[in-house]
Amino acid sequence: RQAARLANKLMLSKALVAAQVRNRIGLGVVVREYASLSHLHKQYFGFPGEILMRMLKLVILPLIISSMITGVAALDSEVSGKIGLRAVVYYFSTTIIAVILGIVLVMTIKPGVSQEAEHIDRTGTTPNVTTVDTLLDLVRNMFPENLLQACFQQVTIINITKDYKIVGSYSDGINVLGLIVFCVAFGLVIGKMGERGRILLEFFDALNEATMRLVQIIMCYMPVGILFLIAAKIIEVEDWEIFRKMGLYMVTVLSGLAIHSTICLPLIYFAIVRKNPYTFTLGMAQALVTALMISSSSATLPVTFRCAEENLRIDKRITRFVLPVGATINMDGTALYEAVAAIFIAQLNDYSLDVGQIVTISITATVASIGAAGVPNAGLVTMVIVLTAVGLPANDVTLIVAVDWLLDRFRTMINVLGDAYGAGIVQKLSRRELERMDVTSDVDVTNPF
Ligand code: ASP
Repeated sequence: RQAARLANKLMLSKALVAAQVRNRIGLGVVVREYASLSHLHKQYFGFPGEILMRMLKLVILPLIISSMITGVAALDSEVSGKIGLRAVVYYFSTTIIAVILGIVLVMTIKPGVSQEAEHIDRTGTTPNVTTVDTLLDLVRNMFPENLLQACFQQVTIINITKDYKIVGSYSDGINVLGLIVFCVAFGLVIGKMGERGRILLEFFDALNEATMRLVQIIMCYMPVGILFLIAAKIIEVEDWEIFRKMGLYMVTVLSGLAIHSTICLPLIYFAIVRKNPYTFTLGMAQALVTALMISSSSATLPVTFRCAEENLRIDKRITRFVLPVGATINMDGTALYEAVAAIFIAQLNDYSLDVGQIVTISITATVASIGAAGVPNAGLVTMVIVLTAVGLPANDVTLIVAVDWLLDRFRTMINVLGDAYGAGIVQKLSRRELERMDVTSDVDVTNPF
């Protein structure tokens, strides 16, 4: 009996060992199977990054609402009008400078002249966008029919397939422009209400502080999220060869962005503020890295605020006003990119542009950058208006889709930097009004130097 029990045990353990071996082999096979599935990799590696994006987007709404309302209410209408005007003049002039720089570079480097367009697939459908549509949409968005609806605004984001075709658009986002207009009006009214408006002002001020504390917590998680965002992107890219093919075009865009951010903007800042612009850029480092990683000025906004207010000590009355508006309409990087891309496409098509057409490109690239939402690839959609304005095939936007994910990151970084410089410059230009208000006002939303 004992011998039989022993034999049984032995058989049992044999069976167990066999099962274990089978399991391990099974696991190995499963792992290998999984390893070959890139979409699963993408999901795993991208997940912590996705969570970071979600957290940043989550705080945009309370941040914009609270900062704009308190920012405007803390200024009297005359001062906010002046600050607004200065900001708009700054936005407009730097955008034009960026466009001119892009045009000069692309006409000098001529990245499209020796290239063959044939190697890149031109098929695919393009969103149908015209200049008038964009302008009308811009104004339409300024007046949302419904405030709640504005928080779930449809933003056109193009969907790019693996073979670089634009297959349509989907919606995701907030109508930032509409909210800004409402908050400015609301803030002005609260500011004029005296004692009764004070309750609301204090409420929104507290909301702003609470949101910024949340941002502080999110920033602790940022390095992890960003690491995984990069990992996921590297796994996702299948065709690195395309970068060689489009090399000169990318060099043109990137050098334009580099010149604009290291020479043009710093020069303007130094001429007006008389302080070291590179220390300023350094203070914005965290926001710039975030923009580079997530390709969205709007989603970077919480970090932009923190860097501008905490590191650079820009007056909150200015940042609250200038940064959200800037993130929506001031896109130097996008404008430069649109001008370069349009002329690059003209060069690929052997299409010679006259002076009138180049001026048209400058104007439409500016309009297109204002119309682009602060979300990934938005510039590619509005690019169509630049192409159609000079009679180039709108479908040719598909020629540059393949490398847009990379260029988008860099132009978003410059968009964010441009907004920050704007806040620094407008603060300097408005210091007299701010000082005068410091003497008369008892509402403390300041963060003086
Ligand atoms: N991604 C850019 C931004 O958020 C817009 C663009 O596509 O140029 O600023």
